[in-house]
Amino acid sequence: MQQLVAPMQILIRQQNIFHTFPQLNDALEALFVLEGLKPAARQMIHEDDVHRVVGFCETMGLRWELSGFKVLKDQELLVVPDHPQAGHYFMYLSRDQDICKLAKFYESSRNDEKLGEILGYPACCVRFYTDNHQKASLLHDDYSLMSMAGTEGTPHFSTNNLARFFGVSLISHFPCSYNCIPTTIMGKALFSCVKKHNSHLAGYIQDVLQGPVISHAISGIHILKGWRSDGEAVWYQEPWLTSPNEFHDTLQLCNNVRAISKNNLQLRQDNHVVEEVFGDHVGMVVFGG
Ligand SMILES: [Zn+2]
Repeated sequence: MQQLVAPMQILIRQQNIFHTFPQLNDALEALFVLEGLKPAARQMIHEDDVHRVVGFCETMGLRWELSGFKVLKDQELLVVPDHPQAGHYFMYLSRDQDICKLAKFYESSRNDEKLGEILGYPACCVRFYTDNHQKASLLHDDYSLMSMAGTEGTPHFSTNNLARFFGVSLISHFPCSYNCIPTTIMGKALFSCVKKHNSHLAGYIQDVLQGPVISHAISGIHILKGWRSDGEAVWYQEPWLTSPNEFHDTLQLCNNVRAISKNNLQLRQDNHVVEEVFGDHVGMVVFGG
């Protein structure tokens, strides 16, 4: 994966936000709440780190609540908060205590619709999430193929949530499509906020989020880096790896992808087609600026 050349620094009240939230997308989400661009953040925090986040909230005047359950290592088993095995809590951060309380309540009562609403997600995307919940559970809880199905043309990079597997994203919801208008408006505002605080970091984020991404039901997300388009095909130098798999190996053998349609891709080495994939289980979107 590409090395981060921009300084990981966003100073608020003389404090670098990354000291509390080492992962980029977590730090950004906290920043967006502090700046009033998001009503609340919902983050998974290891129990040993809770005190650090609480300290941060106190300094920054943020309110917080802790989930009424703990999530153990496999991220599926929910247990009571005093369970002896170490785990993660969800923490709800907001400038408004009532919002934290409501987020906690809706999460514990498994009301995804209300939880999405209180976290400030667009209504169309909340509906999309609840409508596709079952379908996504068969795809490792990934909604990208469904988001791609509704996407036309070249969406703005700020709606790209697919690099979250690499810790980079501006939005924290699943967009109903990558052209979703409220998501695009939100994404652009979030990007401007990062730019205002650290333009080098904003440049890095744009670099990561812009460009071609393939989603494949079995092998996951493939981000093609060092890319250019010649109108017929998308050429690339390096496919980023989420976990080792055959599809990634094929992409490494190839150097360009020709999209016959967004669900029909030819993986090619120069003009030679190495593999053709098509169907609902595969999709490609090129994010633009
Ligand atoms: Zn939407």
